[in-house]
Amino acid sequence: MIIKDYVNKRKNELKEEISKLNEKPCLIIIQVNNDPASDAYVRGKLKDGAEVGANVILDKQQPTISQDDLIKLINKYNNDPEVHGLIVQMPLPKHINENIIKLSVNPKKDVDGFHPMSTFSPCTPKGIIDYLKSEKVEIMGKNAVVIGRSNIVGKPMQILLRNESANVTQLHSKTTRSDMEFYLAHADIIVVAVGHQHFLDHTYKLKESAVVVDVGINRDETGLHGDAEPNLKVRLQTPVPGGVGLLTRLTLLVNLLEAYHGI
Ligand code: NAP
Repeated sequence: MIIKDYVNKRKNELKEEISKLNEKPCLIIIQVNNDPASDAYVRGKLKDGAEVGANVILDKQQPTISQDDLIKLINKYNNDPEVHGLIVQMPLPKHINENIIKLSVNPKKDVDGFHPMSTFSPCTPKGIIDYLKSEKVEIMGKNAVVIGRSNIVGKPMQILLRNESANVTQLHSKTTRSDMEFYLAHADIIVVAVGHQHFLDHTYKLKESAVVVDVGINRDETGLHGDAEPNLKVRLQTPVPGGVGLLTRLTLLVNLLEAYHGI
């Protein structure tokens, strides 16, 4: 099923589930920047929440807010029993330490999965695993290659694939071209998350049976582009736009519902 249809189907299921609850799951988004890309992401989260009947509330603060005041605000929501999920939209202003803020969110409400003790897996890799399973992509015992090792995508992706018993190789900017070619030629599942438009292109020899998951979002005047060149000769390739971004948004709602149920 194409990702758009899969996401719509899952959203309808979530909507149905939420309609039967006594109270609506509540997600607070704290935003402390005036970044247009963040504004767009937040708008998407508010829209998604409204679609499934969740109560998603934006608490927008001035970028001049002090770190102490931001932590006080986070603690207010951490201790509010009517708030089930809490996220702080990145990026933060320079005077605020990102790690301290991530560690300030109650791990049981951390539906972004950024706290090391969070009850939740980060949305992008979790959404990818759920989608691969829905597509009946075999993961156990398969060769998975993750290109990129960031804290929000590459690293947790590697962990989740390993938890599914894949043979996982993680590649990064220090990997040589010849090693990149070697590992990719043996890969059954490739997740590319580097932030370079069309990094994974036809010059790499890939298995025709391979599955390529394109996490990249690269913007230029013509629109959004992935980290993989479109139409590679593989079994399945996720598109950009209309691909992993939708899975990430969906998974925030999935995590919110789990937070509501206290899982
Ligand atoms: P990031 O923090 O910049 O990390 C990029 C990773 O790619 C790093 O580990 C880096 O290696 C590696 N890399 C950079 N150049 C490389 C090269 N030439 N060869 C091999 N590896 C290379 O980025 P991120 O946050 O993971 O995001 C990656 C992309 O996914 C971006 O386009 C971002 O916008 C997108 N994204 C999409 C979603 C979504 O929902 N679709 C969610 C999050 C991110 P080193 O560690 O060695 O520097």
